[in-house]
Amino acid sequence: MAAREETLVAWLRDAHAMEQQAIEMMEKMERRLEHYPELRAKIHEHLEETHRQAERVRRCIERHGGGTSTIKDLGGKLVGTAQALSGLFVSDEVVKGGIAGHAFEHYEMASYKALIATAEEAGDQETKRVCEQNLREEEAMAKWLADHLPEVTRQYLRREAAGHAEAKR
Ligand code: MG
Ligand code: FE
Repeated sequence: MAAREETLVAWLRDAHAMEQQAIEMMEKMERRLEHYPELRAKIHEHLEETHRQAERVRRCIERHGGGTSTIKDLGGKLVGTAQALSGLFVSDEVVKGGIAGHAFEHYEMASYKALIATAEEAGDQETKRVCEQNLREEEAMAKWLADHLPEVTRQYLRREAAGHAEAKR
């Protein structure tokens, strides 16, 4: 395998681990949220989308002869930044979770931008197309979170002022 292809596959594996981390984070947050139904519904939607993203990335790895057993090995091993962000995401507090979610989406966006350039250089049009599709979905989720974070914050503050101990989630 040429060096460029090896790099492409290595970074696709990182992206796959990143998506698995995203799934874990969002599952925890969805389970925890009780009083923010709109946010919860959006997380549920992006969670299902994220399963499809991970599957698309997995198929790109397989086209280059990378086996799924290698991916399974990576399942629990996370990219440091993704792991640090996910610690915030699962925080027992909706506003912190929203901030971390927004940051995580941008981490994903940057990862796919680098992968698109790598796929271009490696002449892998299908991987480029997959990464562009995933990138658009991350951008849409990042925008939704950015647009809704002020209102989620106001809801939090109203609930807190009304003495709802459960305002946090
Ligand atoms: Mg994603
Ligand atoms: Fe995402």
